[in-house]
Amino acid sequence: MTALQERLLKIRNEVDHKATLVAVSKFHPIEKLLAAYEAGQRVFGESRVQELEAKRKTLPTDVEWHFIGHLQTNKVKYIAPYVGLIHAVDSWRLLEEIDRQAQRCDRRIRCLLQLHVAQEESKYGFSAAELRQLLDEGEWRKFEYAQISGLMCMASFTDNTAQIAAEFAQAAALFDWAKGTHFADAAHFCLRSWGMSDDYKIALEQGSNLVRIGSTIFGDRV
Ligand SMILES: *Cc1c(COP(=O)(O)O)cnc(C)c1O
Repeated sequence: MTALQERLLKIRNEVDHKATLVAVSKFHPIEKLLAAYEAGQRVFGESRVQELEAKRKTLPTDVEWHFIGHLQTNKVKYIAPYVGLIHAVDSWRLLEEIDRQAQRCDRRIRCLLQLHVAQEESKYGFSAAELRQLLDEGEWRKFEYAQISGLMCMASFTDNTAQIAAEFAQAAALFDWAKGTHFADAAHFCLRSWGMSDDYKIALEQGSNLVRIGSTIFGDRV
């Protein structure tokens, strides 16, 4: 077994009963993805459409591809035929376009609403108030093909573990509110995507069931 495969299996053991592991392979060469695949990994996360397209053509077809980064509206059409989950839906326009392209492909596309919980300034993600408003307004119910399946967030880039835990806890509370208020009958609304290499252990303690881990498996991105 290679060192990469050992790191992968160690993390899988840590998260397996609690969460699905998304192996974030962005910027890493195809050989590393294949090594992870051979060790049993089937869910991979990428953050650039072109790179995802190229890698998908090379890996076996039973891989489930997740798009984890900021997705431009005009690129949804390229991944709509096959993408397994879109993690970071951060605008109404993007949700609308996912629904339109999913309909064209005659398939449902699962997606997560990105919540902005970090203290850093970021262009991306809904504030808690915006997310509540979006869901309360209810217009999203018209989307038959874009399937809102949960929430996603990224914590602040900090060593302050209490702050990170508080940010994930905020996301967990909003998930519970959304589930209870708008998705009580929707079994598919069940995904809580938080936790990366540096904070996945905290994320698991705060209810994550989908962790996105890159560098701890694949090494530093070049
Ligand atoms: C790159 C990335 C990750 C993985 O980050 P690591 O620190 O390498 O684990 C997770 N989520 C998102 C949205 C990313 O862009």
